[in-house]
Amino acid sequence: MTVSEDSTRKPLPAPDADTAAFWRGLQHGKLLLQHCRQCHHVQYYQQATCRECGSDELEHRPATGRGKVHSFSVVHRAPGPAFKADVPYAVLLVELAEGPRMISTLIGSDPKDVTFDMDVELAFDQVSDHITLPRFRKA
Ligand SMILES: [Zn+2]
Repeated sequence: MTVSEDSTRKPLPAPDADTAAFWRGLQHGKLLLQHCRQCHHVQYYQQATCRECGSDELEHRPATGRGKVHSFSVVHRAPGPAFKADVPYAVLLVELAEGPRMISTLIGSDPKDVTFDMDVELAFDQVSDHITLPRFRKA
């Protein structure tokens, strides 16, 4: 990840060799999870080896897109000028149906309506020609 020098623009992720397939998947409306062929561990954060057993036999499979809110917080103070128009917004820790947890933001409903265990589904937010971000909406 690289952070833009210009604080009025939102920082965008910079795909590298380990994460290129993941970002390409998002552009095509798929959130790819890494499934370990050795121990069947499923991981969200893309890396070269399994975090459970160290195997490099990882396979990308698209997530169903379903999940539940495990935890959340509502941001009222923008972390920088680029986020001023977004507040208040809800940052969610979502437990995906496949098991991994991921952090993203809620779109499409009022942050006040978020509850623990709320069902959410993935939404794909194209923020530039090359980057689509995974977000969540109420299911
Ligand atoms: Zn493994």
